Amino acid sequence: MTGETTEVDMDVRRHLTSEVTRTTLRLQQTILAAVRAYLAGLGCTEVLLPIVGPVTDPGSRGAKQVDIDYYGHRYKLMTSAILYKQATLLAFDRIFCVAPNVRLEPMETAGTGRHLTEFHQIDVELAGASREEAMGVAEGVVAAAAGAVATEFAAARPALGAVATGGYTRLSYRDAVRELVALGVRQDDGAEINWQAEKLLSDRFAKPFFLVGYPKGSRGFYDREDQDDPGWLRNFDLLAGEGYGELASGGERESDYARVVTRMRETGENPAKYAWYLDLVRTGLPASAGFGIGLERLTRYLLGLPEVTAASAFPKLAGVVSP
Ligand code: AMP
Ligand code: MG
Repeated sequence: MTGETTEVDMDVRRHLTSEVTRTTLRLQQTILAAVRAYLAGLGCTEVLLPIVGPVTDPGSRGAKQVDIDYYGHRYKLMTSAILYKQATLLAFDRIFCVAPNVRLEPMETAGTGRHLTEFHQIDVELAGASREEAMGVAEGVVAAAAGAVATEFAAARPALGAVATGGYTRLSYRDAVRELVALGVRQDDGAEINWQAEKLLSDRFAKPFFLVGYPKGSRGFYDREDQDDPGWLRNFDLLAGEGYGELASGGERESDYARVVTRMRETGENPAKYAWYLDLVRTGLPASAGFGIGLERLTRYLLGLPEVTAASAFPKLAGVVSP
């Protein structure tokens, strides 16, 4: 090859030709194949969902959305596929997608080893499912992926055997907060657990574990409030062990029109912006539960990599201008 190389050119070249990147991307293919086989086995249909739309998931913790000019209308790049996942249940009872998400994360996330500004989610939605059923499927996805990677990568990462057997611990949000406070972390009951605190918790587990029942103020309007425990959501996060932190978020969805509108208002969203979605909710969407797992984070965790950047062919970090 001839021609002048620029700094960006050198970075792209170094990244794509590195043995770590190549091995990681090959094993990411193994992970995707295993997850697709597992979900197909549960009767899930894989659907390709939009990457632009009039609105997107508003519940993305401190990250900014990206606007585009769509024939004179302000559209968004998807921060997650949540609204389309729910709508797609009109076609099939059990669906999943592997979808790109764009989130302009705060600058300080560039050094966390687990935040990209462009990443992919394995996103699952199951009509009629409870939180517990969704958690079972999330566990199954991670276990299936771990089993497939262990077959090719066992010597390098013995911890995978235990991840592949499932049986992940379930901890309530409230117990987790108590544990954090005992560790000296300033954590308000009722607030989101930030990524530093999540890392501390995750350091204390050898295997993935669930945190269940977050407070209402911490999540988007679509996570269903527990009617028997007002103020608390029928949702969950799945955290990796060994300090790798959050892998997935999910929960039961609110499908009652009046409650969705109220929750939108409570979370500072203007219902008028969500007209297409609210029309569907008003005329009937199935009750459901589901979750989204970050593919690059799952890959990073299963391979035990220091940085999530290795799990993307063209990684983008907050504040870093790159192709
Ligand atoms: P969330 O909707 O924020 O819970 O995101 C769902 C999942 O996507 C998370 O559990 C992560 O695995 C993944 N994810 C979210 N934000 C990022 C990011 N900035 N970089 C990489 N993965 C992410
Ligand atoms: Mg989350």
